[in-house]
Amino acid sequence: MANDGPSSELQPEPSSPSTADVQPAPFSDAAPAESADTDVPPSPQAPEPDADSVLSAEKKPKKRRGAIVAIVLLALAFLVAITLFVFSSIRLEQALDIVELRDQKINEQSELIDEKQTFGLAMDNLMAVVAEYEGVRVGGLVHLERYEGWAQQTWKDRWDAQEVREDTIRVEETSMALDEALAAAKVNASTNTTGTTMEAVTDSLGMGFANSALDDADTLCGQDVAGCVTSDDPYTAHYDAESDKRPYMNKWLRTGLAHHEYAHVLQFTNPEATEKAVGTFTASATADAPDYEIMADCFALTFLDGWEIEQTVWVSAYEYWEITGYGYTCNASQKQIIRDWYAAIAFIPRTVTQ
Ligand SMILES: [Zn+2]
Repeated sequence: MANDGPSSELQPEPSSPSTADVQPAPFSDAAPAESADTDVPPSPQAPEPDADSVLSAEKKPKKRRGAIVAIVLLALAFLVAITLFVFSSIRLEQALDIVELRDQKINEQSELIDEKQTFGLAMDNLMAVVAEYEGVRVGGLVHLERYEGWAQQTWKDRWDAQEVREDTIRVEETSMALDEALAAAKVNASTNTTGTTMEAVTDSLGMGFANSALDDADTLCGQDVAGCVTSDDPYTAHYDAESDKRPYMNKWLRTGLAHHEYAHVLQFTNPEATEKAVGTFTASATADAPDYEIMADCFALTFLDGWEIEQTVWVSAYEYWEITGYGYTCNASQKQIIRDWYAAIAFIPRTVTQ
């Protein structure tokens, strides 16, 4: 057996292969047996697998993890995108609301400015119409204090377009009414529907704003009169048709009568100024000659040169009438009161502050 020696000892025994036997020797150049890759797990001392097998072995779990991470990231990105989209939509909607609100406010402001300008123009137009009433003494036609109150009211209403619009309508309607009254006065002043001297005088004195009627003044005023004015219609002088036919009636008497009746129109339509003036006549008044009547007579005596309270009218060579009116002839100071009163009631336009 010694011949078999060491060489034989180095040979693996073919009859008893073992796991250890198929392992290459640590310093052997021999390639590992193919069986090593099969069922037997590599021992700690097993040789390193080749590079390809390492890569392929490690790539598989990394790919799955990578895919999961990618999916999660994509999902997160998607969620972020959705969230951003939702927030963006909400913010866009809010922005649109703000823009809409701003546009609405701009429109409202614009509308308000338009309404205020329209009101200003309406007031300017009203003042232009009012100016045409300068010198008119028949009262109660123009109400400057009222218009000033409207302007102040509109100043309070200045933030409310609807209120300003309504204020404007009121001003425009007033302008129209004053315009119509002016036009009617012009027609009235240039026509004589009764065909009487009284109307001609009344039209002239009243600039067309005082009317004349030839009717049954006796019945209307409840007494025998040549003419009268009632509080129901203070703008109309009623002349008694029957009295006008009397033989003593002449142009002079009719002119005096028209002055007297026009004074009543002024008294009725300028109550405040008249209240002060009429007091001057109270001491001279009697039951048959009330203060308002002797004041009206004084008006004729003041403004109709040559007028006298007692008139003698000859109707033929041997027949005359004594016309006495209310019988009181006013003095110089009373005539001055009449002049002052007449001057004070003349309408003077003034600017209404807006
Ligand atoms: Zn009278």
